[in-house]
Amino acid sequence: MIKKIGIIILAFILICFAGCTAPADSTGGQTSSVTEPETEEPAVESVPTESVEEQPADKTPIPTTQPDTDVAPAIPLDVTYRVGDEGSEIKFLQQMLADLGFDPGDLDGVFGDALKSAVSNFQLYAGLTADGIAGPKTTAGLYERWVDAQQAAQPADDQPLLGCVIGIDAGHQRNSNSDQEPVSPGGTDTKSKVSSGTYGRFSGVPEYVINLQVALKLKSALEALGAEVVMTRTAHDVDISNAERAEMMNESGVDCWLRIHANGSNDQSVHGMFILVPAEGSLDTDDDIVARKSVALAEALLDSTLEATGAKDLGITPRSDQTGFCWSQVPVCNIEMGHMTNEQEDYLLVSESYQEKIVQGLVQGFVAYFHSD
Ligand SMILES: [Zn+2]
Repeated sequence: MIKKIGIIILAFILICFAGCTAPADSTGGQTSSVTEPETEEPAVESVPTESVEEQPADKTPIPTTQPDTDVAPAIPLDVTYRVGDEGSEIKFLQQMLADLGFDPGDLDGVFGDALKSAVSNFQLYAGLTADGIAGPKTTAGLYERWVDAQQAAQPADDQPLLGCVIGIDAGHQRNSNSDQEPVSPGGTDTKSKVSSGTYGRFSGVPEYVINLQVALKLKSALEALGAEVVMTRTAHDVDISNAERAEMMNESGVDCWLRIHANGSNDQSVHGMFILVPAEGSLDTDDDIVARKSVALAEALLDSTLEATGAKDLGITPRSDQTGFCWSQVPVCNIEMGHMTNEQEDYLLVSESYQEKIVQGLVQGFVAYFHSD
């Protein structure tokens, strides 16, 4: 009975969405790596997003996962899905996770290890038992968040960021690219184009996943306050070098941009948050104002984000070896949200509640930055 009611409610929701869902950004897979933040692509994703087809009023709308003719029945919320299961419901599970920034791997309708990891990641995120099995609580919790994410951010009454153009780079991507590129325009030093980032030593969650999750939330929150947001990536299966990410930002006319990362350390007791800024003379411009604004942005963001999260303050560090900085002609900084090698901070960073605190802090920091002069 409850099951039927659940399906009916779901069908109703889908009817409401029919014809209006062109999922904005979804995410794909990812891999993160090490030292350098990389660049990504334009907010367009290569991963198929969920779309709901128009259906005759007397039929249950059917979500499709790919731009193909496959149809997935509305997913029953009270069924348990686990490794070995296959079908359109599994594909829908994969799509929902991808749209929310998790990395379920290929959207192939097969419940394999990648989906199990993503389900477990979602469970940690949502405060559920992380067993990698999508039972009723997990599926319903996922669906609820997915529906929310499909809706455009409601404009706030107050629009303190109206007219501001903000760039967001979710650091890393699913697969690294070790091809070399110059650290700076015309320079002889080279670095890998993109690394795949660190990972949670306790949660098992890759850095590139949480970077994108926070980036997607931040985008939505900034847009609600009137900002225009330019993303380097909204999926994980992209291949965008750090220099390319900076060039995307230079060309898109952003007022400033933020590179989002998390850190790792050989010392598991190390925890806390810090922000990297371009060292003097390392930006791709001689304009001192751009350098000063980069520091002002870092100060505003760090203050408010420390306050919102209660994280340990590890300060602001100038760096001259960051490709993403050296190619930038506009104000930029790089937040290291915490340490994924520290047990407590690892679990915090993968959780919805802590990610929301980070976003809240960053939003306040952007408002402070744009209203400081
Ligand atoms: Zn990183």
